[in-house]
Amino acid sequence: MTPSRPQPAVQARRQFEAALGAANVFFDDTDIAAYQDKFAIDDEAHHPAGAVAPATVEEIQAVVRIAREHGIALWPISRGKNLGYGGSAPLLAGSVVLDLSRMKKIDYDEANGTVLLEPGVGFYDLYDFLQQRGLKHWLSTPGNSWGSVVGNALDRGVGYTPYGENTSKICGMEVVLADGTLVRTGMGALSGSPTWQLYRYGFGPCWDQLFVQSNFGIVTKMGLWLMPEPESLMGMDVEFDHPDDLGPLIDAIAPLRREGLLQQSPTIGNWLRAAAVLTTRDQWTKEPGALSDSVIKAIRDKYKVGWWGVSLRLYGRESVNKAAYAVLEEAMNRLKPMSLRPTVWKRGEPLEYSGWTGTPITFPMQNANWHGGRGGHIGFSPVLPQSGSAAMAQFKRTYERYREYGMDYQASFAFGERHLINVNAVLLNKDDPAMMKKVDPFLHALVADAKAHGYGEYRTHLDYMDLVASTYDFNDHALRKLNERVKTALDPTGVIAPGKSGIWPASARRGAA
Ligand code: ADP
Repeated sequence: MTPSRPQPAVQARRQFEAALGAANVFFDDTDIAAYQDKFAIDDEAHHPAGAVAPATVEEIQAVVRIAREHGIALWPISRGKNLGYGGSAPLLAGSVVLDLSRMKKIDYDEANGTVLLEPGVGFYDLYDFLQQRGLKHWLSTPGNSWGSVVGNALDRGVGYTPYGENTSKICGMEVVLADGTLVRTGMGALSGSPTWQLYRYGFGPCWDQLFVQSNFGIVTKMGLWLMPEPESLMGMDVEFDHPDDLGPLIDAIAPLRREGLLQQSPTIGNWLRAAAVLTTRDQWTKEPGALSDSVIKAIRDKYKVGWWGVSLRLYGRESVNKAAYAVLEEAMNRLKPMSLRPTVWKRGEPLEYSGWTGTPITFPMQNANWHGGRGGHIGFSPVLPQSGSAAMAQFKRTYERYREYGMDYQASFAFGERHLINVNAVLLNKDDPAMMKKVDPFLHALVADAKAHGYGEYRTHLDYMDLVASTYDFNDHALRKLNERVKTALDPTGVIAPGKSGIWPASARRGAA
């Protein structure tokens, strides 16, 4: 059973309706179903009491006031497409979802390449907006671009371009706190400043990142830097034949990433990525358990992919890209890849509609249909050093666990500037009870394996927030205690997303130790 709060009183609902209009208050059974986690492992967990959808800061402040008065927990979402991490569902059952998807204002500073966005602006909205103005700036879209730009940056989602780590491009926020106070961070704290989206830090402590993956406030506006349209894009898709090629590949890319020759963050992925999107499992085998080596070979033969593959892309001036390309090509050829396919684009040519060009995409989500039935996926994503031997050891450990639990291995190793994130997708069939029963022990085993080597996850599903927070345990969990002191100071009764990222106010601490 997940923790829950009592259903809000009828009186509270009436107050929400008076503040927002009845059309923006949702407490019917169908509404509750609509806001549940579509990829939930336990369909009975994380049911919201309902949802409210304010359109302005003043309406948000009114909702917060009503919630405080009635002891209601709010769960803010931007567009609620955080599939695999809980979607639009709250951690605490009985919370009211604060749906900000009606707030869709975009302020664009073309000269400086920045936007100030409300939470409801989706990647498709911002793309259409920029395209109508000649696409002078590109987005960095995630694999499922249905979601909101603000929501993605707030959960540290990543895209494919040099601006891929959206959270690192945040510059200034506007936030409603649990007591209703409206705060602007950075230069926004200086009334009427024209530099809010230009200089991140302002004066004194910089708060932007304290509202990322936290529950300290409701973000109502976010400044973001956009990448200027490059003059050219050059790169290569490279495939590698053997599982053991992973280590040398990481050791070849890492120094190029650290020195900045590669500014985009490449992702090394395994053989399942094309098959899981383009086919269903029963087209390959009826055998239960993890896919056998012969099926893996059949998949690889059909799509002409290696055990591992990576796409490398260079963005910017053509002359610079050409020089950098030669360095990349030499580094890859030294590894004797199975295949190396160059790609080139120049400004003025038609864009390839992919994440590399910042185009919103949704087709990768098709992998939720791999097993048939009601599909879903959940991720396990520990942070590793950029070391080939560390990555190989992590890969072998994790692959063994996949086979032990009879799951099909879909993994990637994504480069940051100094780290790797090993994103492992667990593809699910919610209509297969035997499989669903294994998921929770499987994830616990993966988290424990990683922890034993000093690795922790960068992001997780609602079900595992307390567990993952508990692995960050230095000095008797001093960081969690610090987070909770801040939470208790700002929001003593837990109005905003109690339990998010394992952070509870002192009055409601329920998480695992
Ligand atoms: P997306 O629509 O991009 O997938 P979500 O709306 O699902 O993003 O948001 C991801 C997570 O970030 C949510 O579960 C929530 O915890 C947090 N979040 C989203 N928007 C806000 C916001 N405006 N203020 C505070 N937290 C937010």
